Amino acid sequence: MAQRLIVVGGDAAGMTAASQARRRRDRSDLEIVAFERGRFTSYSACGIPYWISGVVPERDQLVARSPAAFRDDFDIDVRLRHEVTAIDLTRREVVARDLDGGGEVRERFDDLVYAAGAVPTKPGWADTTAAGVFGVQTLDDGAALREWLDADPAPRRAVVVGGGYVGVEMAEALVQRGLEVTLVEQSEQPMSTVDEDMGALVAEAMRGVGIGIRTGVEVTGVEERDGRVSAVVTSDGPVPADVVVLGLGVRPNTALAEAAGLPLGPTGGVRVDLRMRVAGVPGVWAAGDCVETLHRVSGLPVHVPLGTHANKQGRVAGINIGGGYATFPGVIGTAVTKVCDLEVGRTGLRERDAAASGFEFVSVVTESTNRAGYYPGARSMTVKLIAERPGGRLLGAQIVGWSEAAKRIDALAVALWNGMTVDEMTGLDLGYAPPYAPVWDPVLIAARKAVDALARAGR
Ligand SMILES: Cc1cc2nc3c(=O)[nH]c(=O)nc-3n(C[C@H](O)[C@H](O)[C@H](O)COP(=O)(O)OP(=O)(O)OC[C@H]3O[C@@H](n4cnc5c(N)ncnc54)[C@H](O)[C@@H]3O)c2cc1C
Repeated sequence: MAQRLIVVGGDAAGMTAASQARRRRDRSDLEIVAFERGRFTSYSACGIPYWISGVVPERDQLVARSPAAFRDDFDIDVRLRHEVTAIDLTRREVVARDLDGGGEVRERFDDLVYAAGAVPTKPGWADTTAAGVFGVQTLDDGAALREWLDADPAPRRAVVVGGGYVGVEMAEALVQRGLEVTLVEQSEQPMSTVDEDMGALVAEAMRGVGIGIRTGVEVTGVEERDGRVSAVVTSDGPVPADVVVLGLGVRPNTALAEAAGLPLGPTGGVRVDLRMRVAGVPGVWAAGDCVETLHRVSGLPVHVPLGTHANKQGRVAGINIGGGYATFPGVIGTAVTKVCDLEVGRTGLRERDAAASGFEFVSVVTESTNRAGYYPGARSMTVKLIAERPGGRLLGAQIVGWSEAAKRIDALAVALWNGMTVDEMTGLDLGYAPPYAPVWDPVLIAARKAVDALARAGR
């Protein structure tokens, strides 16, 4: 009899695991059933801001593979609008509720992939009866927001609550649609994934494209008129709004896992080993935004909810379920984003992470340009490096600049991943031609400055 794999969650981690397992085991050996409570599979949540802005014209461009394609090409039985409500590890069964048809199904499993993603932070005030308050966690959420924005009369004033990368990307999307946008952030700077000095550059650029920023401000409620949101109430007074978008971060979606007795780690994510096996629970795997992973620099468990990790972790789980061998080596916190033309990249530890982990370090900030200064389109680029004392190992890097900035972080991420010192980095053979870099690339300039700073500090 064929074994059975049940997948909980039909997006990046879950469907990658399912399709990887299928590549190695055919239907006579492994039946695969995937439960997804939403209306889409394998969609790019990362693309939602660009569909909302109109840069990506069609919603379905964000869907990498539909349920029909999974059925036809991979022989995977995808059950949309089915919410798994319980996992019974003793009977090795899941219980799922049919959200449209009603009723419940029970399905047996030999292997289970738990890939339920993350839960967006939703403060009490957001549980309002006023229409017009949206999250953007799933494509269903994005579709609801898009419908509101496309209605006639169209909303004019938007408030984005939360200044992480999702909030920043959504503020950009709404400005590009022509709305008057205010971003409200509780801390003193948007983009807290970079150090404050670098976040200040992002804030400046956002103001430059007309996004109003209120920092150090707490949202306490919404006002409504005729059942629709009309303002966001803050510690700094009301901000008028016809639409409110929440970007307040996420936590691992582990309610089901916890109820089933799966172990959680200190960050609240499901605890897995390098092969994505749930620690101590044979035949149960977990991947994506619901798990915690290892930070390769700090050595600490972290929850880093990014699509890049979800896909890789799903692939690792699927290869192992399929009978192969694969491991997920951990993360170093590399991420990129943009706000209009300003690009932001980061990898490794921020100053505050390095200090909290007990490292002694120097940090340097350098200004240079993306291209040779005389070449048309040359614009400024700020690079920050954090290097360990006295050895000079790169611990973290951040880049803010106008073009060709964000993906330069990849060279720094590779250096950091491989434990390079800033001294070694000064000799890196990076590409140079006037349209692409000054003769000393901003990365090399920053490495040289970091070596100087180490010398000044007596290493
Ligand atoms: C607006 C936005 C922009 C982003 N941009 C980037 C980016 O640029 N780069 C990047 O790396 N990452 C980005 N991310 C993060 C990335 O989208 C996530 O890390 C990734 O989607 C995680 O994949 P996942 O499969 O773990 O979880 P999800 O994509 O959240 O999928 C989990 C699925 O499980 C389903 N589910 C949950 N519980 C149940 C249940 N009980 N039964 C059935 N189904 C269930 C959910 O409906 C969901 O579809 C972005 C996220 C958002 C929201």
